[in-house]
Amino acid sequence: MTIICGKCEKEMKEIELKEYEFEEGIILNNVIAMQCPSGHVTFTEEHVDILEHCGFIQRI
Ligand SMILES: [Zn+2]
Repeated sequence: MTIICGKCEKEMKEIELKEYEFEEGIILNNVIAMQCPSGHVTFTEEHVDILEHCGFIQRI
C-alpha cells in the first residue's frame, strides 16, 4: 500500500520516531508512523489502533 503525503504529495515511508508530539502535551516515544521525504508525519488507522491498544492515546 502506497501512502502519499497530503501536504507535498510525495510517497511516505514507514519509520520509527524516537520522539513525536502527537498532540499538544502528548509525547510519544519510539512509535511507528509514516513520514515523507519533506519530513511530514502522518499516522494510518493501523498505527492509531496500535497506539490506542498500547494506551498511548485515547480516542474520544
Ligand atoms: Zn510531505
